[in-house]
Amino acid sequence: MLLAILLPLLTAQTNSREAEIKAAVDAYLAKVPAAQRARSNAYFEGGYWLLLVDFIYTIVVMRLLLRTRWSARMRNFAGRITRSRSLQPAAYWIQFIVVVFLLAFPLTVYEAYYREHKYGLLNQTFGPWLREQFIMLAVNIVLGVILLTFLFWVIPRLGKNWWVWSAVVAMLFLAFVALIAPVYIFPLFNKFNKLEDARIKDPILSMARANGIPAAEVYEFDASRQTNRVSANVSGFAGTLRISLNDNLLKRCTLPEIEAVMGHEMGHYVLNHVDKGLIMNGVVMVLGFAFLNWGINFALARWGQQWGIAGITDVAVLPLAIAVLAIYFFVMTPVSNTITRTMEYEADMYGLNASEQPDGEANVDLMLGEYRKLDPGPIEEFIFFDHPSGRTRITAAMRWKAEHPPSANRAEEARTVFSAQ
Ligand SMILES: [Zn+2]
Repeated sequence: MLLAILLPLLTAQTNSREAEIKAAVDAYLAKVPAAQRARSNAYFEGGYWLLLVDFIYTIVVMRLLLRTRWSARMRNFAGRITRSRSLQPAAYWIQFIVVVFLLAFPLTVYEAYYREHKYGLLNQTFGPWLREQFIMLAVNIVLGVILLTFLFWVIPRLGKNWWVWSAVVAMLFLAFVALIAPVYIFPLFNKFNKLEDARIKDPILSMARANGIPAAEVYEFDASRQTNRVSANVSGFAGTLRISLNDNLLKRCTLPEIEAVMGHEMGHYVLNHVDKGLIMNGVVMVLGFAFLNWGINFALARWGQQWGIAGITDVAVLPLAIAVLAIYFFVMTPVSNTITRTMEYEADMYGLNASEQPDGEANVDLMLGEYRKLDPGPIEEFIFFDHPSGRTRITAAMRWKAEHPPSANRAEEARTVFSAQ
């Protein structure tokens, strides 16, 4: 009897609490001018199509390299350059990556230069942008040489189970790249400095100490060279793990907002997301290589002779391998995104608890909405989002705030994040 009276009361209370949270979320979302919202929606939704376009383009290019026997000819040429069998995969790779770079170049210019400019997200003129494309090509040449030399040395020694061990090699290689990237790759594109400004540094270091993080490892980098996007990240692996803030964030955000971001990044750090990501993506990778094994056997049995490819130990098989993996990873997009998005949400929860700045968090989420759709449907978010949407993140922040009323920050609530355009 008592329950029958209390239950509707309780539900009513939950409902009104949820309604309050939703109202607070809507108030934040309303800070974004309509024109800007439309623009960032168009940008992000266009990205869904680019996913498909890139996939089809990859298949078309790889098919071309196979059917015209271009791949087989590059292998033969590699054989003429060097008699050493262990150097031939490297000689093949350099030809392959340059050809693919050139064939994909028009699409790259559209996607990474023209389109980014159209949406006001790129700060570079064509010259410096192109220079960075060449640096990336050089990095890909070096990394590919290392990976393929090792893979084609080890595959003939593995027999039928080559795919299991190759997946393990691929994963270890990713860990290796993550390890060296902050020291040898990122500085090719940006300058990294230790954060010096005491007004920002001191509260961040205090938060870091409170969360058991070695304090010297906060960096800032000049992302404004390329873009005006606000972002921060945890990069590196084992000995090179570090938290970096970009200069746009430091310029455009208030201290509570920076603290909210740092809390999030510290969450990645403390929750060991780099290691967990490697392991979860490692599982995805092993399944992918099982599919790769099947796909290569299937295709070579039918067209191997026509394409001039001897088998899995023949480096000319590479375009086929890339095509098969492209199919797999295209289909697995929601899985990969969900792995990342889940960790991002965990970092959000950690960040709210560590920074106690739900309003700062909400304002930063709005800024991230400059390049990520703020309010998608649930299925859309599941398939396409590698971070939670603005609505999801602000809802989490407002829910946290509802349970911690003293954390409310009126200045952040009232702050105009975007000047009306
Ligand atoms: Zn994150």
